[in-house]
Amino acid sequence: MNATRTTEKSSSYDVVILGAGYAGLMAALRLSRRKWPLRIALVSAQDQFLERVRLQESIVAAVAPRIASISAFVAGTTIEFICGNVTSLDPDLRHVQIQTDTQMREIVFDQAIFALGSNIDVEDVPGAAENAYRLEAGNGPHSAAALRSTLRVNADRPMHVITVGGAETAIEVAGEIKTAWPGVKMTMVCRSRCGASRGPRVERAVRAELIRLGVELIDGETVIEVGPAEVVTNRGRSLACDICVWSGGLRSAPVARGAGLATDPQDRIWVDANLRSVSHPHILAVGDAVHPIAPTGAPYRLSAFSALVSGAYAADAILANRAKRRIRPFSFSTFGQGIAIGRSGVGFFSYPDDRQALFIVKGQTARQIRNFFVWLVSYVLTLERRMPGSFFWPGRRRVSWDQANDALQKAETAKKLQIA
Ligand SMILES: Cc1cc2nc3c(=O)[nH]c(=O)nc-3n(C[C@H](O)[C@H](O)[C@H](O)COP(=O)(O)OP(=O)(O)OC[C@H]3O[C@@H](n4cnc5c(N)ncnc54)[C@H](O)[C@@H]3O)c2cc1C
Repeated sequence: MNATRTTEKSSSYDVVILGAGYAGLMAALRLSRRKWPLRIALVSAQDQFLERVRLQESIVAAVAPRIASISAFVAGTTIEFICGNVTSLDPDLRHVQIQTDTQMREIVFDQAIFALGSNIDVEDVPGAAENAYRLEAGNGPHSAAALRSTLRVNADRPMHVITVGGAETAIEVAGEIKTAWPGVKMTMVCRSRCGASRGPRVERAVRAELIRLGVELIDGETVIEVGPAEVVTNRGRSLACDICVWSGGLRSAPVARGAGLATDPQDRIWVDANLRSVSHPHILAVGDAVHPIAPTGAPYRLSAFSALVSGAYAADAILANRAKRRIRPFSFSTFGQGIAIGRSGVGFFSYPDDRQALFIVKGQTARQIRNFFVWLVSYVLTLERRMPGSFFWPGRRRVSWDQANDALQKAETAKKLQIA
């Protein structure tokens, strides 16, 4: 993006939505119901909709976007799309600064929905930011596209790729690379057990599939440094590699912390049972950017589904508040999850929670089911565009106000004890 050329005087909106991923786009579309004519601004860094759930596919080949232009997608609604980078947020003055291609814009808002998502966290381990690739969109030097170029250029020579992390992103990276380039030596290094994030049954299925592909699994070892051609672990081992892909956790956009909103150590915004920031209640937070304090029915995990339901709920909460109606605490149920492992996968069903896998599907069927849900989460946005307010989700009545208030009170007491 070019440097600032001019500064535009501020424009004012009823609601500004920061970020147009699954959560932000859903929130904006739902708010655009004609019954409530609101001035809505939707701000995001790119005009193309980013399907993050398909980023691992882009290691092998560029992925054609299902929504090629957000501005075209929302044309004809009450949403004004602003393509630009949110550089700062002043929650007290209710200002946002946006760097567009041509100017620095300032926006004034009454309420905001924070939906800037998250990024792979490379801040804590020396050398990770400089030397490791990660599943990032765009054309940056460490992006998925850059990783694809490096793998393609070196396809004819022996290569060792290490992916750091043992959860879904790392599994999908390892599966994708080993399937597309079977000659590559592929290793996963995880501080606990690779594939163990969803219980023993899922772990067994995931590990069996990775081992079948020929992925080496190193458990119980923490990477403490990444060099240009090695990773160093807490056991003092240096593992030589040609490529390191960092998949070791997510961190939310730094804008929230910079704005002085109350955030957790991963910069996710602490929110109450209506998804309002506990420090600045006129700002709601959704998707990967949120850390709910009250129970949410199913555990709140960072996923496209959580992003859709939280985005829809935040819009409903704003509309209810304007109509002076009280809305139930945010809650939802989950059905299960699919993990892609190359052309294969592991899927597990877990309704209404995600703590226990009821049954597991493996192989190409699992991959096809995952592909269907990946398509569905984008299609739901298309439906919401056509019929704002139509999206619904199971488990909306799982948390009572008593349960929510109890959790908020306990959190408040814990905070006071920490301060004392
Ligand atoms: C490889 C991979 C595979 C995944 N697979 C699955 C899966 O199978 N199932 C599943 O449910 N979830 C999966 N996830 C997780 C899922 O993608 C996220 O939980 C989901 O995208 C969160 O949605 P969001 O709207 O909160 O954020 P995002 O989708 O990250 O959207 C945030 C938006 O904000 C924009 N933005 C960020 N910062 C700024 C800024 N400063 N200024 C302007 N715009 C900004 C970004 O460009 C982006 O468009 C996967 C994630 C990855 C990385």
